[in-house]
Amino acid sequence: LRNNTEMEAPMTRSAAAFLREQRVVPGGSMRHASWFPPHPPYAARGEGCWIVDLDNRRILDCANNFFSLVHGHAFPPIVAALTDAIANGTAFGLPMEGEIALAEALAARNPRLAQTRFCNSGTEAVMAAIKGARGTTGRHRIAKFEGCYHGSYDHAEVSLESKPEEWDDAAGNPASIAYAKGTPPAVLADTVVLPYADADRCAAILKREGPTLAAIILDPQASKAGMVPMPAEVIAAVKEACRRDGILLIVDEVVNFRLGLGGISPLFGLEPDFVTLGKIIGGGLPVGAVSGPAERMAVFNHAQGKPKVALGGTFSANPLTMAAGLASLTHYDEAAVARLNALGEALRQRVNQGMEAAGLPCRMAGAGSLFRLHLGARKVADYRSARPLPAETEALPRIHAAVLEAGILLTPNCSGALSTPMGEAQVAQIADALIQAVTAEVR
Ligand code: PLP
Repeated sequence: LRNNTEMEAPMTRSAAAFLREQRVVPGGSMRHASWFPPHPPYAARGEGCWIVDLDNRRILDCANNFFSLVHGHAFPPIVAALTDAIANGTAFGLPMEGEIALAEALAARNPRLAQTRFCNSGTEAVMAAIKGARGTTGRHRIAKFEGCYHGSYDHAEVSLESKPEEWDDAAGNPASIAYAKGTPPAVLADTVVLPYADADRCAAILKREGPTLAAIILDPQASKAGMVPMPAEVIAAVKEACRRDGILLIVDEVVNFRLGLGGISPLFGLEPDFVTLGKIIGGGLPVGAVSGPAERMAVFNHAQGKPKVALGGTFSANPLTMAAGLASLTHYDEAAVARLNALGEALRQRVNQGMEAAGLPCRMAGAGSLFRLHLGARKVADYRSARPLPAETEALPRIHAAVLEAGILLTPNCSGALSTPMGEAQVAQIADALIQAVTAEVR
C-alpha cells in the first residue's frame, strides 16, 4: 500500500515558486490583474507567441503582458535594437536621438500626435494628461465613463467597479464611487461619471456639469465596458459639450492604439486634445506617453523656464524603451496592422459561429486583435450589461482554467490580444479551446 504522501502528485515548480514568493511578497504575486487560483504559472521565458513556464509547458500567450506585446516575446528586431542600445548605457538624464525618433514615428502615423512626451506607464500618462487639461483650462474637475479603466490614478479609477445600484438619483448619473480605500472625498466630488451607452443622459449631465470640467476622458472601445464600441451618439454628445464649454478631450489609447495605424481616434472620428499612450509603443518595456497637437502640448513646455504642468521623471524616455518602442512600431506597419486585425476578425467569426451552431449562450466581442468573451445571451452595450451575472461570475474562472489546461493563457475575464507571430493555426486553437470549455460548462 502507498501512503498518502506517496499518492500526492509531485509539486510543480510553479507551485514551489508560489510558496516561496508568498514569504516575501504579500499575495505571492506582483500582479493582481492576472491573478487566478490556485496561482498562475510562473513564466521562465517567452518565444514568439509562446510562454514557456517553469515546468517547461508551452503556453499560447493571449494575455501578452496586458496586451502590450504586439509582437509576442523576444521579437528578433526588438532583441537586436535592445542589444545595440544596452551596450551604450541605460540612462543619461540627457536628451537622446532615440526619443526624437519614437516621437517622430508617432507623428508620422497620425498628425494629431504631432508632439509627445514620454513617461513610464499608462497610469502616469493619464495622470499627466488630466493635469495638462487642468493647467490649460484652469478648472479641476473631470468626467469619465462608468466602469472604464484608465490606470490607477485617483480620479481615473473612480467608479471602476461600481455596482449597478450605485446610482446618484439626485444628479441622474452613475454615482462617483471610490475604487481604492482611502480615496479622498474631493476626488469623488471632482469626478463626474457618465454612462457608456446613454447619449441623452450624457448630454444632460454634460449640459449641467460642462462649464466646471477641465477634461472628459474616454476610451471608445473600453475593455471593462464590454469591449464594445461607444455609440456614435454618445461621442457626438461629448464632442458637442467640449466645443460648447471649452472642455478638453483626452482619448485613452493605452490599449487600443494597436487597432489602427494611427490609433483608435481616427476610427471613431475623434480629434483629441491629448492622447494617452503606453503598452505597444514601448516594445515590451515600461512606457507611457502623452501626445497631442503642439498648441495643447505647450502646457508641458519647459524651454522657457517652469512649465505650466511638469511632465518628466528619472526614467522618462529611457533609451532602452525608446529603442524597443521604435522597433515595435516600425514592424507594426499598415500591412501588419491589417493582417492582425483580420486575424482577430477571423477568430471572432469562428468562435461566434461555433457557439451559435452549438446553441451555446456565449459571444465574443472586441475589435481588431483584441477580444473578450461574454457569457449569456443578452446584448452587451456598456459596463452594466457587460458585468457577469452571479452564475457567470462562477463559470468564467472555470472556463479560464479549462482553456489554460488546453495550453492557452487568457486574462482572468477571458479577454485576450493576438500578436504578430500568430497565424490561422493559433486562431483555430483558441476558438476550439473556447468552444470546448463553454460546452463543458453548459452541458
Ligand atoms: N489605460 C488603459 C485603457 C489601460 O488598459 C491601462 C492598463 O491596462 C492603463 C491606462 C494603465 O497603463 P499602465 O498599466 O501602463 O499604468
